[in-house]
Amino acid sequence: MNLFKRARIIYLLQRYPIEHEHWENALKTLTLVQRMSAVEKAHLREMTTLFLHDKNIDGVQGFELNEQMRVLIAMQACLPVLSLGLSLFKGWSHILIYPDAFQVDRDVSDEFGIVHRDQRLLSGEAWLRGPVILSWQDIERDMAHWRQGHNVVIHEIAHKLDYLNGSANGMPPLHYSMYSEQWTDTLSQAYECLNQRLQHHYGLCVDAYAATSPAEFFAVFSEYFFCAPEILHEHFQAVYQMLELYYRQDTLSRLSE
Ligand SMILES: [Zn+2]
Repeated sequence: MNLFKRARIIYLLQRYPIEHEHWENALKTLTLVQRMSAVEKAHLREMTTLFLHDKNIDGVQGFELNEQMRVLIAMQACLPVLSLGLSLFKGWSHILIYPDAFQVDRDVSDEFGIVHRDQRLLSGEAWLRGPVILSWQDIERDMAHWRQGHNVVIHEIAHKLDYLNGSANGMPPLHYSMYSEQWTDTLSQAYECLNQRLQHHYGLCVDAYAATSPAEFFAVFSEYFFCAPEILHEHFQAVYQMLELYYRQDTLSRLSE
């Protein structure tokens, strides 16, 4: 990093610190973050501070956010990029928060080119080069039941990372040390396995939404990787290892600390 950039970061960290009380409350709420090492926590705090400065987190439909809520959202958004850096969040600047699940109503064209009206109720959405949109009710629910493996903030951030190579297809730009073929083979195999189990009406140990598309597979498995890594490690160890290489975090080790 060049010296001017470093100087700006030091200035921002000193000028706009997160209040001690807000940070401590956020740590109490997010137990998996609490189990991170002191170094990781300090790094996450710095990133969260810079994220809050760079991005606008605003309520919509008259929903009012306080600073504590912003810290909680920013902290969860930064968790996936803790070892990757905030530069992956370039090109967008807004997180919009609805009070609860929100209706989308838009035209979509199917594989035959026929346009349909699509109406759905969503807990989150990530736009290519646009905002991340989230429901506070769902964020709160996920924070209260963190260990079940659901986290709408991490889910949408995973889509944002996936978009970095132009489209959400379940493969974000990989690091030089990683092999795209290995990634594709490993994730495809697990994706097929999920779909076959669903076809035969067998139970799944992860949210069935992961089987809807490769992009949703990556987003849902990223949620488990951070919130319930033991489930991934036990049932999809090869995928866990791919995500460990990509996110450069060993989330499983945090459980035993
Ligand atoms: Zn999704």
